[in-house]
Amino acid sequence: MSESSGSIFMVAAPSGAGKSSLVNALIAQDPAQFVLSISCTTRPPRPGEENNRHYRFVSVDAFNALRNDNALLEWAEVHGNFYGTPRDRIDESLAQGKDVILEIDWQGAQQVRRHFPEAVGIFILPPSIEALEARLRNRGQDAEHVISRRLLAAGSEMSHAPEFQYVIINQEFSVALQELSQIVSATRLRYGKQAARHAELFSQLGVRSAPV
Ligand code: 5GP
Repeated sequence: MSESSGSIFMVAAPSGAGKSSLVNALIAQDPAQFVLSISCTTRPPRPGEENNRHYRFVSVDAFNALRNDNALLEWAEVHGNFYGTPRDRIDESLAQGKDVILEIDWQGAQQVRRHFPEAVGIFILPPSIEALEARLRNRGQDAEHVISRRLLAAGSEMSHAPEFQYVIINQEFSVALQELSQIVSATRLRYGKQAARHAELFSQLGVRSAPV
């Protein structure tokens, strides 16, 4: 079967590296092109977070039920809470030619690669440990013990950066955003993606529908 024209992008980072801001700015450039997967989590909402927009906030029982029903493409325990990607919208979005963005941790990325080996992995690094700590504190949304826990976890998350094909260092937001956008553009131009998107043209021109 030929591949779909949409791609999966897995974006991972230590907490505070600016991942969500970058992803949101990328999507804002062309909202019709992207589907941002809304994860389920057992973490309580932070001030300003809305149910079904930032996350689907669920109880541990409800999370376990989703897991048992095989409704999650992947799931992991991160910072003492459960997080998971609902399976339902992914296939449908890819078939429609949309690019699906998953903001997940390294454990989730490993699971997604098993189902979708072509998923593109992008790791966002902070420009320094000091910058990471400052961003976590300035966010002002988490309690001190939560911040300490996340800083400790940052080292362990970053030790998995080599599992991702692309690395962006988020020093200058606009540069990092441009780099993210370039990764997406290059992926969209891969042979299989273009062949799927322009099937009729490829057939008219007698050009193969899959790379050799
Ligand atoms: P936060 O609580 O700051 O929103 O997210 C904490 C961590 O959980 C981040 O590293 C984030 O990428 C990860 N995360 C968020 N949603 C998911 C998900 O659906 N699956 C997995 N595996 N990790 C997730």
